[in-house]
Amino acid sequence: MANTGTLLVISGPSGVGKSTVVARLRERIPFHFSVSATTRRPRSGERNGVDYYFVGEDEFEELVEGGRLLEWAEYSGRRYGTPRGPVITRLEAGEHVLLDIENLGAMQVKRSYPEATTIFLAPPSRDELERRLRSRGDTDEVDIQTRLEVAGWQEEMARGEFDYVVVNDELDRVVDEIVRIIRSPSH
Ligand code: ADP
Ligand code: 5GP
Repeated sequence: MANTGTLLVISGPSGVGKSTVVARLRERIPFHFSVSATTRRPRSGERNGVDYYFVGEDEFEELVEGGRLLEWAEYSGRRYGTPRGPVITRLEAGEHVLLDIENLGAMQVKRSYPEATTIFLAPPSRDELERRLRSRGDTDEVDIQTRLEVAGWQEEMARGEFDYVVVNDELDRVVDEIVRIIRSPSH
């Protein structure tokens, strides 16, 4: 389709550095960041409508039932989903749209939009992932353990299913690599 923007999906285990990389990408390339709906509670500093739309279970269910989500998945006991409307509108306006979502959602998007580019951010090691997750200081111990447990299979799955797996070792290098992927004509 002519003049349609690129749909870019970034996934990766919690704590690998997705938000950090997305913030740095923003300084390099204009894109619309898709704000997801979630049933989890806001962390300190998070703003409704900016980081997420924080909704109750009933409201989330209405979004699902009304077909208003492009994809949704359960993660760590909570539900997360991508509002469909803004993604379509922005792509049709020729903008790049970036989704920061977990693996199963990324695969749903790839099925509906085969032209989407999927990137999995992998940690340099499991120990480094744990260190980063703890350094954020905003996730309780049970949730940290759950998140580390799913990290292993997420990476295994990603290696077979995602278009690119990028190891988030050195931030500048990683941002350069993703900018190259977005600009490459073949993605
Ligand atoms: P996510 O959004 O994937 O959960 P964050 O972006 O919140 O992860 O990053 C988790 C922690 O890891 C933060 O403290 C962040 O500063 C740190 N971090 C992110 N990228 C890197 C990197 N390339 N090298 C070292 N630390 C990093
Ligand atoms: P967090 O609770 O740390 O903000 O996010 C937990 C996980 O949910 C992350 O892997 C994040 O990418 C993912 N996530 C955020 N929004 C969505 C969404 O709309 N859909 C799906 N499938 N996953 C999401």
